[in-house]
Amino acid sequence: MYHNPFIYCPKCRSEMAPGLNNYNSCSSETCNFVQYENPTPVVAAVVEHGDKQVVLGHNALWPKGWFGLITGFVEMYEDPAGTVIREVKEEIGLDAEIVSFIGHYTFKRMNQLIIAYHVKATGEIVLTDEIDEVKVVPFDQVKYWPAGTGYALRDLLQSLGYDPQERPFK
Ligand SMILES: [Zn+2]
Repeated sequence: MYHNPFIYCPKCRSEMAPGLNNYNSCSSETCNFVQYENPTPVVAAVVEHGDKQVVLGHNALWPKGWFGLITGFVEMYEDPAGTVIREVKEEIGLDAEIVSFIGHYTFKRMNQLIIAYHVKATGEIVLTDEIDEVKVVPFDQVKYWPAGTGYALRDLLQSLGYDPQERPFK
């Protein structure tokens, strides 16, 4: 389970300790800082490029052979629907339009709340520092992986009448 407690208070540098409701809390009586460890909102895009094909990306930081959805952090005050359009452009160079909101998913290992969309994208795929390899897989052949973004892919495909199969999470 995700747990990443501060040792020292990021506001006043006092020691942190379990406080009210067992949240990791600043020990200074004048500070009141509490570390709630709320999940981080992350958008994920099932990018349809061409007809009924999904673009899966390999993040440059991942081991070779891992592919996933296009994802990104929601910036301050940003609408997640705007995040997804921005990230698809930044990461693979495509112009995306939202088709539907798929759902939201919990990714416990990273303490993330995944907000998933189906988008249709046009243009030429451009690799970037972040996504250094892509594969484009037909909807009727792509396999999903048993984790947050994989379930989003599965749920979209099932809603479109496909019968996606699971592959091991990598
Ligand atoms: Zn403090």
